[in-house]
Amino acid sequence: MTLTIGIDIGGTSVRAGVVTADGTVIDTARAETPRSAAALERCLDRVVQELRVEHDVRAVGLAVAGFLDPSRQVVAFAPHLPWREAKVPSEMAARIGLPVVMEHDANSAAWAEFVHGAARQAHVTCVVALGTGIGAGLLIDGALYRGAFGVAPELGHLQVVPDGRPCECGKAGCWERYCSGTALVETAIDLMGGSGSRGVQLARELADDPGSLTGRKVAAAAEAGDPVAQEAVGELARWLGVGLAMVCDVFDPDLIVLSGGVGASSRLFLDDAREHYARQLTGGKYRRKARIRATELGERAGMLGAAALARDAVSR
Ligand SMILES: [Zn+2]
Repeated sequence: MTLTIGIDIGGTSVRAGVVTADGTVIDTARAETPRSAAALERCLDRVVQELRVEHDVRAVGLAVAGFLDPSRQVVAFAPHLPWREAKVPSEMAARIGLPVVMEHDANSAAWAEFVHGAARQAHVTCVVALGTGIGAGLLIDGALYRGAFGVAPELGHLQVVPDGRPCECGKAGCWERYCSGTALVETAIDLMGGSGSRGVQLARELADDPGSLTGRKVAAAAEAGDPVAQEAVGELARWLGVGLAMVCDVFDPDLIVLSGGVGASSRLFLDDAREHYARQLTGGKYRRKARIRATELGERAGMLGAAALARDAVSR
């Protein structure tokens, strides 16, 4: 039985798992993401050594939230990680004595859905992760599509509202500013500003600590019947439909998989989003539409995908 380790390296935590060929996670390790590059590398080595004590591991896969070079050997830049032009996999392989592969985190998650999850047997699949922002991965005929320079598909920064909400990328009106956990909070706060005492539960959360509201809390409040939270979720569904129609006009996929922290609440907005999507899609009445499904793997997808890519690298 060939075992590999997948490590999802996010801005707040490092999550690792020992994974079997069928995608079963048999052991895990977790750490807070250190702030310096040297400390992060020591942390990764430690996590791997810890898991290797009990398991005969053949390779390691890293899922990284950042811009990678086209050969996936260098992290050029990662907004929430300390690496800049860092040769992460080759240096780590030399330190730990195992093959190490690296992939963008959204691509890893998309690969996991294709190998183990909601996208098995799909031909053209777009995985859209709704979290702090939007992460996206695209699979065409069973292969990840990364573009000519390794940065595709950057769907979160498609402009959906000219002169809309400012975005950290420097533009304004990007899709993720209307359709993400962060967007859900901003929409809820905007709606409360204009609605006096509506949104009892959310208003209380805000009064306790204005910075404490998260997309998950808004989703939970919507589920509990809070009218403002429900309106905010309705807005997210509308923008999700608008964006997915654009995505489908470009790629014509047979399947869209929704994942990420907000994607986990997709039962709240999936039906609405499908309606908006069908209305916005060019020639929608006269063409076959992509199915839109929720993730089967949840937040483990990045780790599972990295482990599967590591397995492919050593079994080739
Ligand atoms: Zn943007």
